[in-house]
Amino acid sequence: PADQEEPDPSKKTLVVLGTGWGSVSLLKKLDTENYNVIVISPRNYFLFTPLLPSCTTGTIEHRSIMEPIRNFLRHKKASVKYYEAEASKIDADKRIVYIKDESEIKADSKSTEIPYDYLVVGVGAENATFGIPGVREHSCFLKEVGDAQAIRKRIMDCCETATFKDQSPDEVKRLLSMVVVGGGPTGVEFAGELQDFFRNDLRKWIPEISTNFKVTLVEALPNVLPMFSKQLIEYTEKTFDEEAISIRTKTMVKEVTDKYIKAEYTDPTGKKVLETIPYGLLVWATGNALRPVVRDLMSQIPAQGDSRRGLAVNEYLVVNGTENIWAVGDCAIANYAPTAQVASQEGAFLARLFNQLARTEEIEDQLKTLSVAQASAKTKEERDETLTTIKDLQKRARRTRQLGPFEYSHQGSLAYIGSERAVADISWFSGNFATGGTMTYLFWRSAYLSMVFSARNKMLVIVDWIKTKTFGRDVSRE
Ligand code: FAD
Ligand code: NAD
Repeated sequence: PADQEEPDPSKKTLVVLGTGWGSVSLLKKLDTENYNVIVISPRNYFLFTPLLPSCTTGTIEHRSIMEPIRNFLRHKKASVKYYEAEASKIDADKRIVYIKDESEIKADSKSTEIPYDYLVVGVGAENATFGIPGVREHSCFLKEVGDAQAIRKRIMDCCETATFKDQSPDEVKRLLSMVVVGGGPTGVEFAGELQDFFRNDLRKWIPEISTNFKVTLVEALPNVLPMFSKQLIEYTEKTFDEEAISIRTKTMVKEVTDKYIKAEYTDPTGKKVLETIPYGLLVWATGNALRPVVRDLMSQIPAQGDSRRGLAVNEYLVVNGTENIWAVGDCAIANYAPTAQVASQEGAFLARLFNQLARTEEIEDQLKTLSVAQASAKTKEERDETLTTIKDLQKRARRTRQLGPFEYSHQGSLAYIGSERAVADISWFSGNFATGGTMTYLFWRSAYLSMVFSARNKMLVIVDWIKTKTFGRDVSRE
């Protein structure tokens, strides 16, 4: 079609899958003029996930943390193509990505093939359910904007249904039982936000729910937030206790039905006790699992044999067993936790790598031209001059190739735990320090605000915070 410009045949085609932390961080720093860059993702925006738990209760409106990818790509030096589609299969041998338009509106062209020279896989991960029966059918997850919206709607639906005329006391209790499974940072942050919503707004506007509204956090391990230091785990558990959020540790969920969960609790004597916990809202936050497209790619590459949790990569983030596929973020296994911090540093590293690769290739092309020129030089002066240029270029080439392997620099871990308190394990020069409380909460807010990508989104987040503080959260059910 006339309005779709063809790729420049003199440039390599770099295909980037995903518009999350890893891919966007790569695109941010990439010199796009060096490649035909094609971005493929079913989500035409970047999502600032650290503030997603705040969207479940309306502390922040979801659009405030969404950055349209089109806005972002428009500012790049050379044009970048974006296709709103899912990569359904990667053929590593043929160097082709198969893509499908999975959106509501589809037209004649809804699936096609994209050939690549270089491929970056940054598709993130799915929600882990461990095959536990009923989880997919009955739980809400907390990964995408749609999940946060569904939770927000469901909280209000439970409250309104609980106050319906002649509701039985057991049903009222069940409907107002808010169960969160998974005591990692996602589960803890959500439980904290939900209790804030209840304490600051819900019980004021719907006083009838006051005695029965209950948040329960269920965790299989002996404590929540395993990646934080011991003192912060204790601080979080104490804060939850004060806030009347019930923590059920050593409790492994085994089955989910539409009205209750069945869990196995290990009592202090080591005996396993089966129990049933009724719920109105169930939020499932038990971490990450592989996306099918990643699993399929791994199955094509014998060198990925032992890897179970994601694409095994080398220290340059090259997918083991391939030459021209890189992986970033939650879909890659590089011995770091699956966090935004890791994904964004990996993305920035790949941008440097591709920028240097382009420079190296440019120098190599020039060197080829110069050696031909030198061979056909007519005079000694001409030959000497070309030789000097060749030597200079060779020096530059050596410098350019010296990009060291990826090294992750851990800045620390931060989590909001509700009631205007946060916990932080900060890496400071060569030491660490742990802190929790209201000052840490202010630090948490300013740190994340400074990381929000655009000035527009920063402003929207600030306005949302002020709005919530001044008028409370909106309790209408959309
Ligand atoms: P993602 O950011 O998930 O992006 C994946 C992208 O791939 C998306 O654009 C998706 O649409 C796209 N995609 C999916 N399937 C396909 C496909 N088949 N083809 C093409 N594209 C595809 N980390 C922190 O460090 N600090 C925090 O405070 C923090 N808070 C969090 C809060 C929540 C609620 C959650 C869920 C996570 C949080 N994380 C945090 C973790 C962090 O969000 C992830 O580690 C990070 O998003 C990983 O980046 P990524 O680029 O690998 O994947
Ligand atoms: P997670 O993997 O950190 O924690 C999941 C928890 O669920 C684990 O503690 C596990 O023991 C528990 N669990 C698993 N199966 C269970 C079962 N059947 N019953 C009861 N408990 C069960 O998952 P997450 O919290 O979703 O976080 C995912 C990643 O995103 C992590 O790397 C995390 O660090 C990152 N993240 C970071 C932040 C932050 O820094 N503030 C916030 C959210 C997520």
